[in-house]
Amino acid sequence: MNWSRTRRDLFFKCPRAWFLRYGNTTESKSQNEFLNKRRPWDLMLRAMKETLVERLEDLRHAKQWSPLLLQHQLKYALERHLQNSTKSVNKRSTEALLRYANHRFTLLWRCHIIQQLVQRKHPCWYVLDRTESVTTEKFEIYASPDLAVLIQNKWHLFRIDMQSVSKKSIDELEANAMIIWAQHQGGFSQLESSYRLHTIGWRRGFWHTESFQPTRKSVEQSHQLVDLDCEAMRQTRTYGRSNLALLPLARSKKICDSCSYQLYCPASEGLQRARQEQKLLELAHFSNRSKA
Ligand code: SF4
Repeated sequence: MNWSRTRRDLFFKCPRAWFLRYGNTTESKSQNEFLNKRRPWDLMLRAMKETLVERLEDLRHAKQWSPLLLQHQLKYALERHLQNSTKSVNKRSTEALLRYANHRFTLLWRCHIIQQLVQRKHPCWYVLDRTESVTTEKFEIYASPDLAVLIQNKWHLFRIDMQSVSKKSIDELEANAMIIWAQHQGGFSQLESSYRLHTIGWRRGFWHTESFQPTRKSVEQSHQLVDLDCEAMRQTRTYGRSNLALLPLARSKKICDSCSYQLYCPASEGLQRARQEQKLLELAHFSNRSKA
């Protein structure tokens, strides 16, 4: 099983959507292309992230971007990503998405740590690739930070979420997964006290930074969280492969409203109704099994 915070979020929002995106690896190429489609808004966030990584890489090589270059790079990334959109996006909507992206990006660049990097206050730092995983004894984990900055003999690991959900009690354990990543990466310290963790996320119109000091206990708890999640995902995948129609649906209608599989889901006719139909299907399924 593969674990990442994005996968975890989707799994707990809607097991069916999680299965379609990550659990259904046996589908044909054309079906996979369809399943990989995203909403324009999500593609805008993805384009922002890609542009951020490029700009940080350039900053590491002492290349500064002008506002014009930023706009150009965002536009280029957005237009390319929109080719994978669930629906066609006209020029006006593309421009609106670009304005959102530009606004968020400009504010992100003013964050404390990024300004410190711009001012060259820390000579040792790296931009990391969040799409690279590490393999633990049991699972493959995508938990790389976006930035690792050495500040006074401590590695400060930063994860930047282009759109984060409201604060949750589990945030600290999820952030601790960055230590699991570092400890399996090679080249980084095994000692939890050698790190400090930060998450920067866009929430309600602002970039918020949360910081955590990892301990051996918190990293152990993070391991347990990953183990439990992966076991639950494994069971859901097995179940979904045998009967997709019986997989649990979304927790709320709001989740369905932003789901790229909505058109092809029983919940497109209403989540409540889909749940009732699912109950009937379950009854039929289990009574058939007991007869057999
Ligand atoms: S439309 Fe709702 S229930 Fe259906 S897959 Fe998407 S989130 Fe899940």
